[in-house]
Amino acid sequence: MQENPYSLFSQRPPYNGCIFNYKFKLFLNLFKRMTTLNETHNPQLQSWVESANIPGNGFPIQNLPFASFRKAGSQESFRPGVAIGDQIVDLAALANLNLFEGKAQEALNACRGTHLNELMALGQEYWSALRLALSRALRSGSDLQASIQPLLVPQADAEYTTAAKIGDYTDFYISVHHATAVGKQFRPDNPLLPNYKWIPIGYHGRASSIGVSGQQFHRPVGQLRPATEGGKPELSPCKRLDYELELGVFIGSGNELGHRIKIEDAPKHIFGLCILNDWSARDLQAWEYQPLGPFLAKNFASTISPWVVTTEALAPFQTAFSHPAEDPQPLEYLSSEENSKAGAYDLKLDVLISTEKSRSSNQQPAKLASSNFKDAYWTIAQMVTHHTVNGCNLQPGDLLGSGTLSGPNPEEAGSLLEMSEGGKKPIELPWGEKRTFLEDGDEIIIKGVCRKEGYPDISLGSVSGTVLKALF
Ligand code: CA
Repeated sequence: MQENPYSLFSQRPPYNGCIFNYKFKLFLNLFKRMTTLNETHNPQLQSWVESANIPGNGFPIQNLPFASFRKAGSQESFRPGVAIGDQIVDLAALANLNLFEGKAQEALNACRGTHLNELMALGQEYWSALRLALSRALRSGSDLQASIQPLLVPQADAEYTTAAKIGDYTDFYISVHHATAVGKQFRPDNPLLPNYKWIPIGYHGRASSIGVSGQQFHRPVGQLRPATEGGKPELSPCKRLDYELELGVFIGSGNELGHRIKIEDAPKHIFGLCILNDWSARDLQAWEYQPLGPFLAKNFASTISPWVVTTEALAPFQTAFSHPAEDPQPLEYLSSEENSKAGAYDLKLDVLISTEKSRSSNQQPAKLASSNFKDAYWTIAQMVTHHTVNGCNLQPGDLLGSGTLSGPNPEEAGSLLEMSEGGKKPIELPWGEKRTFLEDGDEIIIKGVCRKEGYPDISLGSVSGTVLKALF
């Protein structure tokens, strides 16, 4: 724990006291115990990039999320960038100007490749130093405006790839509401298996089929369960295609094989969060999942948002975490004072759908559900700690999925499996169509934002993906 929220940044004079007003000091005091707030979180900060100052734009100077981008339709190399308002700062170009000092410039020098893995590997002190330097450079009145302005690329002109080269991908199952709702469909009297309240359950997924927002994929083909017991399974395009509303966690610095990450140390290994849609073929899953778990039902496509919001940017939205008093309390290795005080995040998620019909009649996408990450049963720190408790090594750029983030109420269901009660209850869309599962041409959009009184909205942007006809 750090007593002084500014002490991370000792390579520069602390801060210019005159930019802080009384309100911000109150704000800092409120969160002092979380110890993660610093001058970059001052809600009063404004940028010389005007679009960043528009209330509700989602990418204000307090956010500064990272992506890998290039000019759309070009043959340029993808390279790291930081969002500010509706613009992107080209970090590879900024690195070449050598404007920053110390760890901030070293962090920038790690942004000359195609992805963010090198920056992620450097560790939290470097990410924080870069964030502080960028925050100062992009503030209204900065001396660096004239040097940085020519490096801006409008987001409207950019295309993206995944922020990191993802080495390994693990998907968890941390929403007890999702686990209970799905479990009920199979075991009405005993929806949760006995391990659920003790272990952050997960499985190893596949990294090669993870794409960035805008991904289009063909409806998967696979074996469907025989119609009668003992019968012959059918090879068919999936008939019960679903989405899963999830968050993705990018690992920053990893751990050596054989060495675990203690829960107290877990936060500093986490680079940031993105939005994740874990497309799921429910009928393939139902036939293949026993005894080894998900396989082809999950590995044909997963889509993530381009922007990764750092945990430092999300610090003002950390919130207390606990298990209900009547539930088993986590084992000691999954507990810490910090995790209980501020292990969860107040982060709102919305899922929307558009279809061929709605797009051809220019209708807006319809909202299917909303939920909040704060309702999860396990925290990110617990996911990281449990993943490494056996000595498994996480590496920079590894992606952890949260699992479907459903809330306690039916309108907070994070998948069609839950919303349609296993396909029994069709969902009516505003333009007259109905869905139990996804049809060809359907597009799913998930948005994520952190919102609180007196602080600018911190957006994770959005992720969209579209189902194409099966190749069969
Ligand atoms: Ca999942």
